[in-house]
Amino acid sequence: MDKQPALNIGLVGHIDHGKTTLLYQLTGVWADKHSEELRRGITIKLGYADAIIRKCESCGILTTKSRCEKCKGEAKPLRWVSFVDAPGHEMLMATMLGGAAIIDAAILVIAANEPFPQPQTKEHLLALKAKGINQIIVAQNKIDLVKKEQALEQYLKIKEFMHKILGKEVPIVPVCAQQGINIDALLEEILKLKVPERDTKSKPLFLVARSFDINKPGTEIKDLAGGVLGGTLKKGKLKVNDKIEIKPGIAIKKHDITEYKTIKTKVVEIRAGSKKLDEAFPSGSLAIQTALDPSLTKADSLAGCVVGLENELPEITYKMKIKTNLFEEIVGAKEKQIKVEPIKTNEFLLLSVNTAITIGNVLSVKKDTIELALKIPVVAFPNERVGIARNFKGHWRLIGYGEIL
Ligand code: ZN
Repeated sequence: MDKQPALNIGLVGHIDHGKTTLLYQLTGVWADKHSEELRRGITIKLGYADAIIRKCESCGILTTKSRCEKCKGEAKPLRWVSFVDAPGHEMLMATMLGGAAIIDAAILVIAANEPFPQPQTKEHLLALKAKGINQIIVAQNKIDLVKKEQALEQYLKIKEFMHKILGKEVPIVPVCAQQGINIDALLEEILKLKVPERDTKSKPLFLVARSFDINKPGTEIKDLAGGVLGGTLKKGKLKVNDKIEIKPGIAIKKHDITEYKTIKTKVVEIRAGSKKLDEAFPSGSLAIQTALDPSLTKADSLAGCVVGLENELPEITYKMKIKTNLFEEIVGAKEKQIKVEPIKTNEFLLLSVNTAITIGNVLSVKKDTIELALKIPVVAFPNERVGIARNFKGHWRLIGYGEIL
């Protein structure tokens, strides 16, 4: 068995289509239960839960439990994966894009008993496309609530729609998450997902998706655990005791000017799920405990930052040049089909760079290349995918993606 989860799989889709229930069926974790959140500490606060996919040695069924549910046979572990639950409800485009930066593949949950496609479903699918995630499995959920013909009709609609947007076929697995029906077929598709080639030779780069303080209120200072960063190692290796820097770091407000200060610290502990690691490779979700004062990391205050070895990260930048690719229509708008107008000088765009979100003022437009002045600085890596959203009637709507030049 691997030392770390092989893949980070995002669970995306419209609210109420059953993401949370499906996550429970796959992992045994209720992601939105507060008590569970407290009990589980680090893992659940990351918004992720792990599962080991196993095969029953007697009947061959796939399961995430240690014993086969059908014949009670011993189940042999095949693949360890982590699921990243995209926050539900008030999910903004921004959160979705930030989350998409740390996943390798996604399960798009679509309810069989709702009209298809929902604006949010389309929005999520395009967000995945914008971030360059092309391994997608559709879970057609709640099939118990519709007639067979209805399920089949929607299945064909999904198939055509996915082909139109992604230019390829994707697996569509009918399931009933509530009753755990056909979950093994979904696991089979998860087993087929390709593990991207991992770069372990470069200098480490860790993307921070979440950050928090794991101490219980009232803990004495001498007993305080250092601030924790959750996210994924994009490349390189990271070891316990490595001296690291975090950028852009802390925002310090002086009068009307906000400055960003790089944070330097060291790695105290690395965890993949509940497993402690001495050394981490780029695979799955990780939690890094640092020597930082936990007040610096609480409430996701460092989400969007990047971590590297001390003095090895590029400088932060307030200016960025992007080669853009615009969609034809605005996504997620309730109103039907609104054309995406070309980007104009002086307009403000929301950009998602790695796990960071920033607003940029367009300084110049030359064909498909735009230059922007950023409100919040980022650490920009050439060729990195950037999601681009435009404000439309008070909502940020994804209009396309770009590549950092
Ligand atoms: Zn069995």
